[in-house]
Amino acid sequence: MARITFLGTSNAVPDKDHESAHLLVEAGERAVLVDCAGNPVVRLDQLGFDPLRITDIILTHFHPDHVAGLPLLLLDLWLMGRKAPLNIFGLHQVIDRAVQLLELFSWQDWDDFYPVDFHPLPDQEKMSIIDSESVKIWASTTCHSIPSMGVRMQFPGGSVCYSSDTAPCDALARLADGVEVLIHEATGEGLGHTSPGQAGTMASRVGAGQLILIHYPTNVDLDAWVSQAQSCFSGEVIAARDWMHIQI
Ligand SMILES: [Zn+2]
Repeated sequence: MARITFLGTSNAVPDKDHESAHLLVEAGERAVLVDCAGNPVVRLDQLGFDPLRITDIILTHFHPDHVAGLPLLLLDLWLMGRKAPLNIFGLHQVIDRAVQLLELFSWQDWDDFYPVDFHPLPDQEKMSIIDSESVKIWASTTCHSIPSMGVRMQFPGGSVCYSSDTAPCDALARLADGVEVLIHEATGEGLGHTSPGQAGTMASRVGAGQLILIHYPTNVDLDAWVSQAQSCFSGEVIAARDWMHIQI
């Protein structure tokens, strides 16, 4: 059985109860970190998950609340003695900038560094990222203020789609079509983002079984946020909370 843990659920301004949105996906031999907010090593330690077990990192886009933890994570894994290769996936613009970010820290001078395999992706829909027995992951470019992508995960027991940051978007609707669980951002309408009502409309449009709101402002009334989504979607709606798990 696969498990997704919400390591953070807030928008770009976290608080003591909410780290910025990022997820850990555990499925068979794969442990996939989706985005790198804060210092992921701290969150993973709090979860009781050995950071050395991470096999893959997916960077959805290059806003600081999604990637700023990457240099620290890579440094810490090296200091913890990692030898195994690490995959990093992202749109080509994101991978270019991630490499530039690491070069600012002169990471090429960190002796005996484990292999990091970058996988730059074109601006397309339904690109296959990971294709293993325990999980298949596809990504599509979406509609944010900078190049961003949503990801769809297919497990033996069901499917999950994560919007990451995007305005309501046809490409995301095609990626999420018929998904069991839609994890959708609910930052609020405008500037390449989505309101809870619009997230509910998207869940209805794709025929999702359940809607989980994420990347919400920490100062809003979450019950009202959920109600707004429910007014546009007849399935179950919940707001993600830090440390929440879903099993698929
Ligand atoms: Zn963003």
